[in-house]
Amino acid sequence: MSERIYNFNAGPATLPLEVLSKAQSELLNYKNSGMSVMEISHRSKDYEEINNKAIGFFKELMGLDDSYKVMFMGGGASSQFALMPMNFLAADKTAAYIDTGAWSEKAINEAQKFGSIHLAGSSKEKNYRAIPNIDSLEIPDKAEYLHLTSNNTIFGSQWQSYPSTNLPLFCDMSSDILSRKLNYTDFSFIYAGSQKNLGPAGVTIVIAKNSLLEKCNSDIPLIFNYNTHARANSLYNTPPVFPIYMVMLVLEWIKDKGGLEAVEKENAAKKDCIYGLMDDNSDFYRGIVEKESRSWMNITMRLPSEDLESKFITEAKAAGFGGLKGHRSVGGVRVSLYNAMPLVGAEKLAEFMLGFKKRN
Ligand SMILES: *Cc1c(COP(=O)(O)O)cnc(C)c1O
Repeated sequence: MSERIYNFNAGPATLPLEVLSKAQSELLNYKNSGMSVMEISHRSKDYEEINNKAIGFFKELMGLDDSYKVMFMGGGASSQFALMPMNFLAADKTAAYIDTGAWSEKAINEAQKFGSIHLAGSSKEKNYRAIPNIDSLEIPDKAEYLHLTSNNTIFGSQWQSYPSTNLPLFCDMSSDILSRKLNYTDFSFIYAGSQKNLGPAGVTIVIAKNSLLEKCNSDIPLIFNYNTHARANSLYNTPPVFPIYMVMLVLEWIKDKGGLEAVEKENAAKKDCIYGLMDDNSDFYRGIVEKESRSWMNITMRLPSEDLESKFITEAKAAGFGGLKGHRSVGGVRVSLYNAMPLVGAEKLAEFMLGFKKRN
């Protein structure tokens, strides 16, 4: 490949070209330090500035005040599946979970090791083709928290509005954080791995309300306690400096584009472009998820046969469109349209899809 492709990978995913270029220009000598960001001390002034800028950008973009803490942790979103119940659940207590796909299930399985789980809703019987109806949920009056997955990366479904509850609302936003405007203050606890919508793999963003942090279990190892990281401003141990620097640049790029309003507008146009093409050609491109639950970030579909699906993926790759193979548990084709995918990428893919249908 002599040129960059349109990369529709589900994660790790495409990054904004402007961000990659900026990182490239600063790579060998960061701000006249004579070193790259990968080589500077995490206790240096330069890193302190990166850390605080990234935290500030998150708060600004999400509309969070000082009643929230933003933390950078390791271990990916998967480690949060275990850390949440380790911090907030206990053998004699209950947490409520909603199961909308593979990642929700993994979170539930880890939580079961720490306390009782109340399943407040599930779309498992529908093979995760939809988000449960909000009115059908059975949310208990008493539980430590209610956990859900905002966007189901593998199946391609997404919550379009959230249940209202008195329980602290916990959300895995790994694959749709900062993709559109949202009342982030409706949530007490938000987490996301970086490698879908925020930057390269290597850091997990954890956002928690101060009032919630006061309730952390104190009998757990320090390194697993959220308060340790909150109090140390994410500098308790050596943080993944380079991924955090990249996330900071991505947030700056979002701000320069016009914030979440501008991002939402472009993301809406992108998903309309692909879903529109699918709906006009539903005899060939069959969406897997029910319309009301469709994800803006991950669009899943089947073609008339598995042979056509592999032919589609091969020919798309040759035409400069990568990462379109569906997850192994779902099959078919998956088009991931994270923030960094430009509208022109979706438009060119739609054009290719129409041509492929005509040829076949
Ligand atoms: C990718 C993903 C995860 C897992 O993230 P890791 O960083 O690999 O642990 C969890 N939840 C959702 C919704 C995801 O998309």
